[in-house]
Amino acid sequence: MSNLSYVSPTADSPWGTYLSQVESVLPYLGHLARWAETLRRPKRALIVDIPIELDSGAVAHFEGYRVQHNLSRGPGKGGVRFHPDVNLEEVMALSAWMTIKNAAVNLPFGGAKGGIRVDPKQLSLKELERLTRRYTSEIGLIIGPDKDIPAPDVNTNAQIMAWMMDTYSMNVGSSATGVVTGKPIPLGGSLGRVKATGRGVFVVGREAARRKNLSLDGARIAVQGFGNVGSAAAELFAGSGGKIVAVQDHTGTIYNAHGLDMALLMAELHEKGGIGAFKGADRIANEDFWDVESDFLIPAALEGQLQGARAKRVKTRIVLEGANGPTTNEADHILADRGILVVPDVIANAGGVTVSYFEWVQDFSSFFWTEDEINLRLDKIMVEAFRRILDVAEQHHVPLRTAAFVVACTRVLQAREERGLYP
Ligand code: GLU
Repeated sequence: MSNLSYVSPTADSPWGTYLSQVESVLPYLGHLARWAETLRRPKRALIVDIPIELDSGAVAHFEGYRVQHNLSRGPGKGGVRFHPDVNLEEVMALSAWMTIKNAAVNLPFGGAKGGIRVDPKQLSLKELERLTRRYTSEIGLIIGPDKDIPAPDVNTNAQIMAWMMDTYSMNVGSSATGVVTGKPIPLGGSLGRVKATGRGVFVVGREAARRKNLSLDGARIAVQGFGNVGSAAAELFAGSGGKIVAVQDHTGTIYNAHGLDMALLMAELHEKGGIGAFKGADRIANEDFWDVESDFLIPAALEGQLQGARAKRVKTRIVLEGANGPTTNEADHILADRGILVVPDVIANAGGVTVSYFEWVQDFSSFFWTEDEINLRLDKIMVEAFRRILDVAEQHHVPLRTAAFVVACTRVLQAREERGLYP
């Protein structure tokens, strides 16, 4: 376990989960293992106080973070999350998974992540804007188009990225579109970015199905989390003949063995902000979600959802990790023993940051691509990365997660070694 004085990870906590994942990869790193301690420590962690004036006139303080886990391969890259459970340990783990993800897909970025410990649903739009702007100013010391580039994550979106871009730009005195990705299109955003993470989940799912000789036509899919990632992935699976049999979100869990009508479900989501009261399905208890029979199980909510006890129950063939860190280590081992293929987060949900990379490149060159070009390039990068990881998994007889870590850690530590120690 980590000997850092400022966090106390446990076996199933995000940073504890990440540290165990690093340990499992060490035997495959050869001479690069001597640099492994680099992976066990974030390069830099900034904690900021964010005071804002509420609409009532009172002042409230919030805790904000930006952690740059590793910058060996390029500027930091990773989202910003607004959630009441955000804390330093969680942001550290999420930043480390960004290091691994960016290297696994071979994007020229290091790993970073940020967050604010806040329930954004309790704030008005104006309060949310003030919070976002003050946070951006506070972390402005360490972000920038060639330093560290934030993006959307849980509860953040294009509007929040627009405020971040504007605040940073006002502070530096020029319009810096490349400081964040996931922006609105008129501000240098990229076509295809909003649905990119879900599209990536679908692309690797399609590839995994090929390996398992499973047809997408008629495949049963259960999705936990129906936000940006889960809903976009579900739509694409449904478009290929898949049946979305169960969906869970913060408003409840619904089930229909014949498959949910996706057009009606999306309309319900837009109208009501959740799917719990959807008429075209049975409502089931949240815990029963894990007993639903499926071919693909897509955890696309928060970390640590698929724990040991649930891993023993799930009846599926392929787990596609749309969320970051949804599977605990114990669950990972149980799923492997049960012959359930787990396509890990660091590849399964890498579509978002891949199109973020496209956005950053387009902003730098001020030359914008069509949506078809973006989706084709995304498909190509995801398929190549997935096949490389499959090859490594077969070569070493290890699960896909270990293989993804072998590919990624090798790239990160090679860069580390070539750069050498300063001074
Ligand atoms: N938040 C997303 C992730 O976890 C995207 C990050 C990005 O685009 O930089 O991968």
